[in-house]
Amino acid sequence: MKKITIAIDGYSSCGKSTMAKDLAREIGYIYIDTGAMYRAVTLYALRQGYFNSDGTVKTDELEHNMEKIHISFKLVSGIPKTYLNNELVEYDIRTLEVSSHVSPIAAIPFVRKALVAQQQAMGKDKGIVMDGRDIGTTVFPEAELKIFVTAKSSIRAQRRFEELKEKGMPADFDAIKKNVEERDYIDTHREVSPLRKADDAIELDNSMMTISEQKQWLMDKYHNIIKTK
Ligand code: C5P
Repeated sequence: MKKITIAIDGYSSCGKSTMAKDLAREIGYIYIDTGAMYRAVTLYALRQGYFNSDGTVKTDELEHNMEKIHISFKLVSGIPKTYLNNELVEYDIRTLEVSSHVSPIAAIPFVRKALVAQQQAMGKDKGIVMDGRDIGTTVFPEAELKIFVTAKSSIRAQRRFEELKEKGMPADFDAIKKNVEERDYIDTHREVSPLRKADDAIELDNSMMTISEQKQWLMDKYHNIIKTK
């Protein structure tokens, strides 16, 4: 069967990764979480002290060291995990500290240029489900299936809160909600590849949907497209 490219974009913590991961597993496609890549760069920058006390980034220092940052994904018991310079960082990149610093990092043009090039290389043979903010607009504007996911911010914060608690990570609902809204603002207002729905993307507001309903919805969209290929 012909392989296609599937781009899933949308707001922070709206369940994109869960949907994307499930679909990829079901149809035997590669899954790439591009948010994890921006988070890994952020973790590196935090560890190296590349943030000023006001939260802005020491861009010169980061730029000089970009080539020292190697991000990869490996399957551990069938689940994709993020590695930074061969260190498993899946847990470390999900902390609120990284979440609070990631959007300024993701707004830096040289960071986006480097990561977008890696993402395009990963998807050059198609058969990929990629989720993020700019996949349908910038990384793969020619993707055959594009989804744009939204949900109310309080619902997204609640889901993120429950996810962190489930993983045994510290979680404070108000701090999470504030972070989700701040990231929405920065992601939609940055100059390079701001978060926006591609004209040909299908919009999904999943505020009132269960995970299995979302999964079915996405599977139906995939089957509709693949029928025409
Ligand atoms: O998807 P996730 O919430 O883990 O992404 C973390 C952050 O990375 C986002 O808030 C956004 O600032 C940035 N990001 C991006 N472009 C992508 C994926 C993520 O700017 N394709």
